[in-house]
Amino acid sequence: MTDENEYRFGTRAVHAGQQPDPTTGAIMTPIYQTSTYAQEGIGVHKGHEYARVSNPTRTALEGNVAALEGAAHGAAFASGVAAIEAMVKLLSAGDHVICGSNVYGGTDRLFRQVLARLGLEFSFVDTREPKRIADAVTDRTRIVLVETPTNPMMHLTDIAAAAEIAHQAGAWLVVDNTFATPYFQKPLALGADAVVHSSTKYLNGHSDVVGGIVLTSDDEIIEGLRFLQKSAGAVPGPMDCWLVLRGTKTLHVRMEMHDANGRRIAEWLQHEPRVEAIFYAGLPTHPQHALAKKQMTGFGGMISIELSSRERAEAFLRGTRIFTLAESLGGVESLISHPAAMTHAAVPKEDREAMGITDGLVRLSVGIEDVEDLIEDLDRALPK
Ligand SMILES: *Cc1c(COP(=O)(O)O)cnc(C)c1O
Repeated sequence: MTDENEYRFGTRAVHAGQQPDPTTGAIMTPIYQTSTYAQEGIGVHKGHEYARVSNPTRTALEGNVAALEGAAHGAAFASGVAAIEAMVKLLSAGDHVICGSNVYGGTDRLFRQVLARLGLEFSFVDTREPKRIADAVTDRTRIVLVETPTNPMMHLTDIAAAAEIAHQAGAWLVVDNTFATPYFQKPLALGADAVVHSSTKYLNGHSDVVGGIVLTSDDEIIEGLRFLQKSAGAVPGPMDCWLVLRGTKTLHVRMEMHDANGRRIAEWLQHEPRVEAIFYAGLPTHPQHALAKKQMTGFGGMISIELSSRERAEAFLRGTRIFTLAESLGGVESLISHPAAMTHAAVPKEDREAMGITDGLVRLSVGIEDVEDLIEDLDRALPK
């Protein structure tokens, strides 16, 4: 496909970034399992020299996801945290990053325990209130990074408002769009400068790859990221790129189903007396539901619930049969997890509790199984 932007989402999901293979006509992008490429003479080649720098399977994936996010460019990395690290490594020691306080635990750990040691400065603020971002700006602020909805509290950030504040400060707004996916939320269209994903999650959707990607239309950002792919090398292999590329072909179909199942289960949980509280942006009772409707077109399959104690949470986690106790999210199969002990164990306990990640909190990643089976599973497992 050549002029991607003239097509709608599902058509782009299936075709963007890919053409039949020029040598054989293969419809599916081959897995170019090679580390290097033959040169006819010094510097005379077909556009690829060494696979850390570029690989045709990776290029196809980058073009595909860029088209889905409405970006001019994509840069794929070996994991979601590698993508986030690359974005922040565009900065220099002494520069300042404002990061949402409730982000993925691995992002928090990367910033506090790795990059802060190398001289970058981080402020963690509750970005639900855009003014807090403005209050945290310094003359060295270069990146504002927000996750919306957040993992696992489903807090939202007003992307357009955050972009305006970032730009006034001369900083980039980077949005981690892993939870919503471009099918339900397009941060670049709302003013963000770059989008990051853990493609491990919904983009791939089948829980068989770890990967990350950054999408942007900003030339300075993409040049910097290409330089980092080459110079720091946290790039994905061709097999993993191919798997994610296969996943994105059904992103629109899967997300409709995650969303339909997510809404049904959220509604059921909301009326369930054994559940103390429910966090799902698609419910009218969510404190930021109006913002959710403004900047998202669907709410997906991520739901957190409060069961008020570690004992009740553990009984529930042990009791499900279809929902499997595991880290990660966004696959076709339903998973259940305990953020305080699992994904967010690296976040300091006071910070964790301040944002609501209690010992009674359970996170559901609702898959695409039959929703009646999922509800029966939860009903059976919920402790009295
Ligand atoms: C999982 C996750 C990440 C990290 O991605 P990996 O692929 O596991 O490195 C970053 N952000 C969010 C929102 C995530 O859920």
